[in-house]
Amino acid sequence: MNVYASRVLENLTKQHSNEKEFLQSVTEVFGTLGKLLDRENKYEKNKILERISIPERAITFQVPWVDAKGEIQVNYGYRIQFNSAIGPYKGGLRFHPSVNMSILKFLGFEQIFKNSLTTLPMGGGKGGSNFDPKGKTDAEVMSFCQSFMRELYRHIGPNTDVPAGDIGVGGREIGYLFGQYRRIVNSYDSVLTGKKLNWGGSLVRPEATGYGAVYFASEMLATRKMDFAGRRVLISGSGNVAQYAAKKAILLGAKVMSLSDSSGTILVEQGMTLDQLEAIMELKNVRRGRLSEYAATDKSTKYVASERPWKQLKTEIAMPCATQNELDIDDAKALIAGGCVCVCEGANMPTTLEATSCLQSNHVLFSPGKASNAGGVATSGLEMSQNAMRLSWTAEEVDAKLHGIMVSIHNTAKAAAEEFGEPDNYVLGANIAGFRKVADAMIDQGI
Ligand code: NDP
Repeated sequence: MNVYASRVLENLTKQHSNEKEFLQSVTEVFGTLGKLLDRENKYEKNKILERISIPERAITFQVPWVDAKGEIQVNYGYRIQFNSAIGPYKGGLRFHPSVNMSILKFLGFEQIFKNSLTTLPMGGGKGGSNFDPKGKTDAEVMSFCQSFMRELYRHIGPNTDVPAGDIGVGGREIGYLFGQYRRIVNSYDSVLTGKKLNWGGSLVRPEATGYGAVYFASEMLATRKMDFAGRRVLISGSGNVAQYAAKKAILLGAKVMSLSDSSGTILVEQGMTLDQLEAIMELKNVRRGRLSEYAATDKSTKYVASERPWKQLKTEIAMPCATQNELDIDDAKALIAGGCVCVCEGANMPTTLEATSCLQSNHVLFSPGKASNAGGVATSGLEMSQNAMRLSWTAEEVDAKLHGIMVSIHNTAKAAAEEFGEPDNYVLGANIAGFRKVADAMIDQGI
């Protein structure tokens, strides 16, 4: 690692030794900026690494709410406003028991570079709560969301900070949050994205992250004269990103052989049909059930409790779409041994640093989430544009723009990787291209 980058990382590590995920994401980014920092001393002179790794603002608040038994519950609420050099803070809200400052700082830090890569004017932010929507009634989720927004509303705005969904925050939660915001401020602002179609949402936003990841993987595969048709694909997760990655891959003729949740993995060795996928989506999205329940009703599937997909079947393409650090070094070795040629991250930082370098040194095409899952936030940017213009684009228009953005992110990352002499290193390419734009804007705008 470059001397300047390692000095800043060392200081951060001393200061935040308990923020494991955050330090992991900084290590990944700083570790790839060396050649740029060696070439240009303006970043060190302007203390860019020191400044970009501290959130401009980090808000913590209490979220009291009343459960179905009438008892008062309290959770932590957070919003990390990381960097606004190129636009209002933008990034999702995550509701999951594991949420803490370290996880939200890692996600907010990644978001800076991801948003920069989309070419849209969006800064980086992230937020959420350790609230777990799983097993809660709609009324409990509404009570929680209203209390969360009772504090959050004063920190956000269409030109300040525009949150969206993430793990545990889908259309239902965005609806309750938006309703509360609009009641409090008495204004119909474009202050959240991921809204439903009938009140300001964009067509293709639900599909965007998963579809975008498949578009990105298609571009990587094309560099080796390959595509999805007839390829074996393993996908983890069964939420928003995984569902639409699976759908697009099936539409392109691939054999999608797995989905998973935090309890286990469902395997369909012959490849999932669209009808099977639709039944799983209905179970997950409408009845809020578990994959084990689906497997019990479909004899052509196999359910493996407590396992992730990576060691279950040989595959050519792997798409981790669940959560951080869900693909480790042993999984990477198993994928390589099974003939995997492409790992495309749909989730944020699902691959450990060790696994990433193992995949790269074995010439597996590897895309970091900040590039390949940027389709979600890019389409959120398109939702903001439609809201500002008070019009709605057709599904075909949005999908074409999404596709164009994913091709452009791929080409930008690839071009930066080539410029710095590592043509297949999408991690280096995405980090340098994403960083350079934000860092230069910070220099232009002074301190
Ligand atoms: P969802 O809440 O819709 O789905 C999350 C999925 O991941 C579920 O299947 C869930 O299983 C599983 N999961 C969550 N935590 C764990 C865990 N600790 N171990 C194993 N499995 C887990 O979220 P999304 O699909 O929206 O998000 C998935 C990933 O994609 C996240 O990393 C998110 O940050 C990233 N992302 C999402 C975007 C979006 O537009 N939605 C945009 C860009 C990135 P279970 O049901 O058992 O909890």
